[in-house]
Amino acid sequence: MSSKKVLELTKEIVGEDAVKIVDYLRDKPNISEFKIAEKTKTEIHEVRNILYRLHNHNLATYIKKKDRQKGWYISYWTFNKRRVRELTDSLKTQKLEKYKYRLSVEEANKNNFFMCSNACIRLDFQSATEHDFKCPECGNLLNQMDNMKTIEFLKVKIKELASA
Ligand SMILES: [Zn+2]
Repeated sequence: MSSKKVLELTKEIVGEDAVKIVDYLRDKPNISEFKIAEKTKTEIHEVRNILYRLHNHNLATYIKKKDRQKGWYISYWTFNKRRVRELTDSLKTQKLEKYKYRLSVEEANKNNFFMCSNACIRLDFQSATEHDFKCPECGNLLNQMDNMKTIEFLKVKIKELASA
């Protein structure tokens, strides 16, 4: 997997602030939390917060060792590359399911969506009936819409995702 993809996934799952940590850590095993802080020019408490978030997603593992001179424990971190693939796959499956569900709703309601002329809202036939074909936000009449473009858009998205 390309490093760009690893960092994109990090941003999506853990947050933008984790990107610099992962960028530094991804090819180096057992790096101390203090070294990570130093090398990424990040405060130690922020580094720990990010590392534990990575750990929550199984994206990083650590071991603790007692520092003989200082007498306290220091954690040493390793990025879990294999987990990136798993997360990418499950994220892709989730997105595909979401788009497929949306597509099934659109196809079951062909040409049967209703949109406010001020674009406040878009309702299916059932909900439009409940509101007497008036916008619940601004009171304008709802117009019946052709949803072929939405259907096409969703089909393209699904195709893209499936082949990614
Ligand atoms: Zn409206």
